[in-house]
Amino acid sequence: MRLLGVLGGMSWESTVTYYRLLNQGVRERLGGLHSAPLLLHSVDFAGIAALQRSGDWDAAGRQLAEAARGLERAGAGALLLATNTMHKVAASIEAAVGIPLLHIGDAVGAALRELGVRRAALLGTRFTMAEAFYRERLAARYGIQVLVPDAPGMAEIDRIIFAELCQGRFLDSSRAFYLKQLERLAARGAQAAILGCTEIGLLLDGVSTPLPLVDSSERHVAMGLDWLLAEAPSAR
Ligand code: GLU
Repeated sequence: MRLLGVLGGMSWESTVTYYRLLNQGVRERLGGLHSAPLLLHSVDFAGIAALQRSGDWDAAGRQLAEAARGLERAGAGALLLATNTMHKVAASIEAAVGIPLLHIGDAVGAALRELGVRRAALLGTRFTMAEAFYRERLAARYGIQVLVPDAPGMAEIDRIIFAELCQGRFLDSSRAFYLKQLERLAARGAQAAILGCTEIGLLLDGVSTPLPLVDSSERHVAMGLDWLLAEAPSAR
């Protein structure tokens, strides 16, 4: 197997999911004592979240690019950036390294295409829902039209992510709020919902939902597993 680099800690609650699913995936495919060859750089999320709030995406991009370079130097052959939001600075990371960044938007887009979905609801941070970087990739590369909640809905979804989910709190009232938003988006014509924040799957785990879900963490991990388990190019 090859060696996969994970840029995580944003938040660590969901990086735990990545670590577990990557290892489970390798065990399912190879059996026995096999597990995933990984390098993890886990950041202190408080600093990254402060840069998000102040809009200093360049500084956040520089910090993650530096971490990505470290993973490359240590031998990683590809990278997973284990957060949707920070894909806003994917280009800075890609420019800093010579190894591929396995983009979470491509993992989600390919899953929606496989399901035959053309109109998808998107739940995530306010940055992911309201800004163009995520939605435009899905539109341009996969022909997906993205529907987002109204402004008060987005604000509350975002608040719950940072004040609760990223701090390991999973409340019934918040679960009910997310389900209500999904109902509204279904009524507006969404055919499926993207869990476009890596912690939302932890809140909705095992819950029946008004729309089929495409969980960005699960799809991203599957992309990482495909890379890990692919034959190395014959030149190597
Ligand atoms: N993990 C979340 C995401 O997937 C939010 C944390 C962050 O802002 O990076 O977007």
